[in-house]
Amino acid sequence: MEEEKVKFRCSECGKEYKAEADRMLCSECSKDQRENRPLRGILEVTLDVELPSSLLEQVRRECASRREANEGGLQTSGGARLPARGLSPAGAEFVRRLLPIDSSFLPPLPVGETPLWKPPRLAEKLGRRELYLKDDTANPTGSLKDRASFLVAGWARELGIDRITVASTGNAASSMAGVGAAAGLDITIFLPATAPRAKLVQGLQYGARVIPVEGTYDEAFDRSLAYSREHGGMSRNTAYNPMTIEGKKTAALEIFLQFGGVPDYVFVPTGDGVILSGIYRGFEDLVRTGAADRMPGIVAVQAEGSASICRALETGDFSDPVSSDTCCDSISVNVPRGGCFALGRLSKHGGGCIRVSDDQALQAQMELSSGAGLFAEPSSAAALAGLRVFEKEIPEDASVVLLITGNGLKDIDGASKKMEFPI
Ligand SMILES: *Cc1c(COP(=O)(O)O)cnc(C)c1O
Repeated sequence: MEEEKVKFRCSECGKEYKAEADRMLCSECSKDQRENRPLRGILEVTLDVELPSSLLEQVRRECASRREANEGGLQTSGGARLPARGLSPAGAEFVRRLLPIDSSFLPPLPVGETPLWKPPRLAEKLGRRELYLKDDTANPTGSLKDRASFLVAGWARELGIDRITVASTGNAASSMAGVGAAAGLDITIFLPATAPRAKLVQGLQYGARVIPVEGTYDEAFDRSLAYSREHGGMSRNTAYNPMTIEGKKTAALEIFLQFGGVPDYVFVPTGDGVILSGIYRGFEDLVRTGAADRMPGIVAVQAEGSASICRALETGDFSDPVSSDTCCDSISVNVPRGGCFALGRLSKHGGGCIRVSDDQALQAQMELSSGAGLFAEPSSAAALAGLRVFEKEIPEDASVVLLITGNGLKDIDGASKKMEFPI
């Protein structure tokens, strides 16, 4: 990490810090931390890069032809028939330059560059011409969390740190375990007893030290922080480690490159609010570097039974935590750790927040599986359920990207809730 190029800046007071592993929250704003509230003083990564104009021009040209191909979609013959898989060499270079880590430190496994594609049958059912799925189930451990784990692991390697600890509802842990295995790092994960078994099995398969927590994710979060303070190493806890938001921004950069510009809407399943914040960061980078000229409409989708960011957007701040109650385990949190950051971005950019019921999420899950061939977690299908709820507000010809965050096989009990099994 080149010192002058990469800094941390407090997302609340703007105070700047050197990017260091033992400085993960703003020393001023974190004094205001109250128990059981979103983290105060989350640091964001600031990156002072100017992209070469030849690269920007190349990316613009590719975006224009990508856009044409996507608009033609399945009606035309030729290259437009194929979904955009991966990135062009210029696109990959573009993303690399917007990362704060020298890419030689990133672990040797293929994270990101997931497909963006149009599901024609589902789109027709919804009466939409421009519906896209950003399929992050295609990441190595089956969820978008790999983007954050990837960057955290890269940062740890750059600093010569070989132990990482994380608390998780399931996916962040299994992701850190898998990405850490590829990089040869020592990983400890804290999982609530309620985590779907598949995510626990993943963690064990990848060889992580698994510490089950009799209690909620929120308790696991606090215990893991105490553990890493005691045992050293780096914490990958979401929102707390600045590289988590930064890593997740690559999903936005890829959407831009594969869609061929800025879509009208992006729907983002939201629990702790870190994916949402990462998506904002990514599009902000695109505008800042001059690659894009506007932000998309970004819509957070929460489970009705775990909707503290929606509530805060309505009331202006975070009130007492409400015990979460939803089958969408990946977006089930009592206290959204990245809540302040996410709320700040939603307010600044006029984003929306939508609640969906478990029934709506499970119905959307089935719709996505049977209508598009994409079997996602209920938490991810919530993005489609959110579009369903918000449908009338969105013009028919608007372009909509649903961010599909996790593979359905990670929680087959959840998926089975609405199913009838043949005898
Ligand atoms: C973590 C996760 C989310 C929510 O991300 P937050 O950053 O907690 O808002 C959504 N879907 C899946 C599959 C996840 O693993």
